[in-house]
Amino acid sequence: MRVRRRIGICSVAAVATVGLVAVPGASASPRLDKVPVAKGSGGAVVSDTVQATQAGLDVLRRGGTAADAAVAVAATLGVTDPNMAGLGGGGYFVYYDAKSGKVSTIDGRETAPATADDKLFVNPATGQPYAFADAVTSGLSVGTPGNLALWERALQRWGKYDLDDALKPAIRVAEQGFPVTPQLRKEIEQNQDRFKQFSSTSALYLPGGAPPAVGSTLRNPDLARTYKEIARNGTRAFYGGSIGRDVANTAQNPPLAPGATITPPKGKLAVGDLRAYRPLDQAPTKVQYRDYDVYGMAPSSSGGTTVGESLNILEKFELANRDRTWALHYYLEATKLAYADRGRYVGDPKFVDVPTEALLSQSYADVRGCQIDPIRARPAPVAPGNPLSPGPCYPPPPSATPTAENEVHTNHFVVADARGNVVSYTNTLEQVGGSGIVVPGRGFLLNNQLTDFNFTPTQGAAPDPNLPAAGKRPRSSMSPTIVLKDGKPWLALGSPGGSTIITTVLQIILNRIDFKLDLPSAVAAPRASQRNTPTVTAEPAFIAAYPELGNFYRHQFTEQAEIGAAAALEFTGNGQITAAGEPVRRSGTSAGVVHPAR
Ligand code: GLU
Repeated sequence: MRVRRRIGICSVAAVATVGLVAVPGASASPRLDKVPVAKGSGGAVVSDTVQATQAGLDVLRRGGTAADAAVAVAATLGVTDPNMAGLGGGGYFVYYDAKSGKVSTIDGRETAPATADDKLFVNPATGQPYAFADAVTSGLSVGTPGNLALWERALQRWGKYDLDDALKPAIRVAEQGFPVTPQLRKEIEQNQDRFKQFSSTSALYLPGGAPPAVGSTLRNPDLARTYKEIARNGTRAFYGGSIGRDVANTAQNPPLAPGATITPPKGKLAVGDLRAYRPLDQAPTKVQYRDYDVYGMAPSSSGGTTVGESLNILEKFELANRDRTWALHYYLEATKLAYADRGRYVGDPKFVDVPTEALLSQSYADVRGCQIDPIRARPAPVAPGNPLSPGPCYPPPPSATPTAENEVHTNHFVVADARGNVVSYTNTLEQVGGSGIVVPGRGFLLNNQLTDFNFTPTQGAAPDPNLPAAGKRPRSSMSPTIVLKDGKPWLALGSPGGSTIITTVLQIILNRIDFKLDLPSAVAAPRASQRNTPTVTAEPAFIAAYPELGNFYRHQFTEQAEIGAAAALEFTGNGQITAAGEPVRRSGTSAGVVHPAR
């Protein structure tokens, strides 16, 4: 993989729209305040941090495309949101191309090493699976990171920038530093027992043995140098070159700190795995929901199929003008059914036969939907259906093990440019802080994405589509989504939150389309997530707002303070965009537009 030179800095300047000096990496626009909602025109960005949103807006102001801006945002998030994603992780990228009117996707998911098999997470000494917590903080959970290859592919397909230009804002932030936010400090604090096990991670994130103070400047010169090496030598420096060798060595021999109290299982990731890595161009999933076309991420993510199946189930019920509690009962019951199918059928399609088309057919959804009891929550887990032979409507007995895995975090961001191109991109290390292991001298954390595989079979007598295998991508829930109306982009959205991502995306779509909330309210509204588990995970405000869901419909709830951290944008007509992030969750996210409305 090589750095491509399509247009140089000068040509970027030539298409600059607002007369700014086109020096990629320089701060070209007024300092952005951190606000969750912004309205205006000329392009928009919503991301977790103000520096990343600023980086994206600067690229847009210089005439870069949404893809150029997205790579600048993602690389900057690698600096300012380092526990969530970056060079050490993977993700899924959904793109609306205004010229062709088409939605396309790139799968940059991590892969399991060539030496992995279905016993990857079984301890050879005991024959028993490793405890989840032991696997999480270990080299064994590190998959081949896909983000960098995805960035390069996105620029090749839809960019004007070379990778070296797109990395410049991130290099600048890494060199100059940025103020530690309460959110970043909280994440480091919560992970300090893991981080202090590794000398490289302690050196970066526990300076003087403690999490950095809020407001102190955090610099990451190692990461700046790593980005520069990639800018100079191309992505091959990572996928097989000196950075890749360091990644593989670190996964195999994590730098345990003196006094470390863990003995983590060793990783299998080899430099050959990095060399062999390829991002995948993928057709998106598509369902029609009422007057809208909803595009999402196909397997290896379960996002597109599960959001899509749930929408298809709900399609035949009129939710808009009904009692809200009744409508939410249907929302919860629809996802219960769709998650049963997710568990039974969805995995990496290179390894398992995923019936994607059948899962997304309206006729199958209609059969699934007739299992919803209009006045009672069905006991969960419910059994999966058979999309290839849906049969009649009957409630079969439960069989699958319920899973509510990975309720932790990631980042999602959205970008639109002035030409109407749109990006919806979710990227992750899996858990906050990933494996907890910073690659020494390189300034980034490695993912623990392979823990998204099932360690042992979960589907009873039926095959489990999500067991590890050599080169396989673990099933994801990431659901970057773009919604078209009359063939034109209308909404772009997504969220972190492990398996709750799917329900967060679905809930925002329902809030906007059926319940007619405006986009900021649709994002801010309290959330609940039913993933075919005995209880519904819900934010306290949701439980308080809809008491009859428990009292009458008999849903049982488990409280979770926050579900997800969404980023969304909506085209509101006449070239206007509403960019909407979180006002409260994850300490608020950062929305910005190129030309704010007056
Ligand atoms: N690893 C998760 C997935 O791919 C995302 C991590 C998270 O958001 O918690 O579904």
